[in-house]
Amino acid sequence: MSDKRSFKCGKKGLIFLTAALLTLAFFAGCSENHKSSRAASPSTGGTGTGTGTGTGTGSGTGTGVENEYVYVWVITGGSASTAELEAIKSNIQKLSDGLYKIAHGQQYIKRVTLKNNGSRGECHVATPVEYVSSGMLGGIYAKTSMGGADGYYITCGGLVDSFTFAHEHGHKELALAGGVRGEEYGGGAGCPCVMSIGSAGGKMQYCDDANHNTSAFSFPSCWSALRSSTSMTHTDGDYPATGAGPAIEAVIEP
Ligand SMILES: [Zn+2]
Ligand SMILES: [Zn+2]
Repeated sequence: MSDKRSFKCGKKGLIFLTAALLTLAFFAGCSENHKSSRAASPSTGGTGTGTGTGTGTGSGTGTGVENEYVYVWVITGGSASTAELEAIKSNIQKLSDGLYKIAHGQQYIKRVTLKNNGSRGECHVATPVEYVSSGMLGGIYAKTSMGGADGYYITCGGLVDSFTFAHEHGHKELALAGGVRGEEYGGGAGCPCVMSIGSAGGKMQYCDDANHNTSAFSFPSCWSALRSSTSMTHTDGDYPATGAGPAIEAVIEP
């Protein structure tokens, strides 16, 4: 009996080991970073002084804001100064306004906790300390990777521009352009969309069924995907002007 039992244990152990190796291989295969090697940002406009405009909400016409993002934004590898954190906070207001604008007021960053010396495992967005005062991340604009507090996290400079941030947000939160690693640029083709790039006709908006480049991309337009996966609404061909979003609530943990 004891022989039999030890044989069984050995077999189980082998199965477990094989499963563990397969799991490792899966994560190794999927952990490559998505990189945005965007050549140029289209004009994103907005000089934004950062003070709240306080226009109020008035009588409710909509169904309420669905996508109120609450983020932990960490500085990794060290600490930014209070002034640098304040600058990042002001910039996040612009990023939130950008998300608000491209979704016709249906999404924004509600609250952000800015934390020095944080870990990637607790974050939604990470900025390496050497890039706290940069709009870029060394040689690339930004990237979205597996991990973080809820599955995917964005790595970007502290002063990242709103087009780049909305592009990465489209990967992280909305799995746009055919999936979380999808893009709407490549081979000279592009879409008039944040999921594209400036040099391929990218625009600060989500593409829809009226302008999506169906000859280049077989997946649905971004608004088509958003209408399926969220309660946000959009009429094809209609891009109404939207003002700045609500003032973000920010907590700074220096
Ligand atoms: Zn798109
Ligand atoms: Zn498109």
